[in-house]
Amino acid sequence: MATTAARYAVGVDIGGTKIYAGIIHLESGEILATARKRTRPEKGPDFFAQRLGDVIEEALANAKLPAQTKPVGIGVGLAGQVDREHGVVLGAPNLAMGLVNLDIDKLLSERFSLPVALGNDVEVAAYGEQMFGSGRACQDFVYVSVGTGVGSAIVQNGLICRGATGTAGEIGHTIVQYDGRFCGCGGRGHLEAYASRTAITRVIRAEMERGRPSMLTDMLKPDETEIRSKMLAKCVEEGDKLVIESLDEGADYLGAGLGSVISFYNPQRIILGGGLIEAVPSFFERAALRAREVALVIAGRQVEIQRTQLGDNSGIVGAAWMVGAKEQ
Ligand SMILES: [Zn+2]
Repeated sequence: MATTAARYAVGVDIGGTKIYAGIIHLESGEILATARKRTRPEKGPDFFAQRLGDVIEEALANAKLPAQTKPVGIGVGLAGQVDREHGVVLGAPNLAMGLVNLDIDKLLSERFSLPVALGNDVEVAAYGEQMFGSGRACQDFVYVSVGTGVGSAIVQNGLICRGATGTAGEIGHTIVQYDGRFCGCGGRGHLEAYASRTAITRVIRAEMERGRPSMLTDMLKPDETEIRSKMLAKCVEEGDKLVIESLDEGADYLGAGLGSVISFYNPQRIILGGGLIEAVPSFFERAALRAREVALVIAGRQVEIQRTQLGDNSGIVGAAWMVGAKEQ
């Protein structure tokens, strides 16, 4: 009896702080091997281009695929706007190394002689959850990622809904406070300016500068500019009042944003992922509770609110799946 050869693909997740690559078995979603490196934005686009290829090479070496087995392609999810048809970066404000117009397709297909597919990071994470995680057997869900920013992807009848100009799902830039805080996009009162890790840690820092005590004073090294999600989780466990209060406030705003999504869109399920959600369970629980509370009664009662099953791996698994589907 003839057996079908196993199909593998490379999945890459490019975020604000790291490049993360994995070799994925396309039928099961199993991760054979991974590699990761920091993005180092201060070193510029050429360094980034070289490093991206190096991370993929390392993941491939770690996977030790049999000599005759070639991956079907390389799928890439990138934190920014992308031209999916041509595999080119259009804009990536959270990747501060000037990647606009970088031709990812050309770069990687020349180095690896493999087909390439490029998507947005939130979209590929949604694919990962849809195929192998919390979105399985669910045709209508909204995937929301909370970390450096707040992003989302809408899956409708099993397909990603992109809207008229391809920006549907920009939940981070919906308004939760009219005329409120400035957002990185230039607008005011946007969800991302209240519920992202960036926004929450900005509040914590301002309070520390005013003299409020926090464990973070001792935890942060002198040259450390970023308060990471895992540090916040540690502070919550130890009962740090400032961190708990600030996270509660962020979770309430996130709940308000999700509640609006539930009333307006009536999704069957909301799947939450991203660094802050993965690291701090109480943040997820409070946001989910608040979302049901502020949403219209029936929609709020019926919606399923879940965390991702693949966690940090949604992006690499989804990116691999994306190129696998394209090359079928
Ligand atoms: Zn905004």
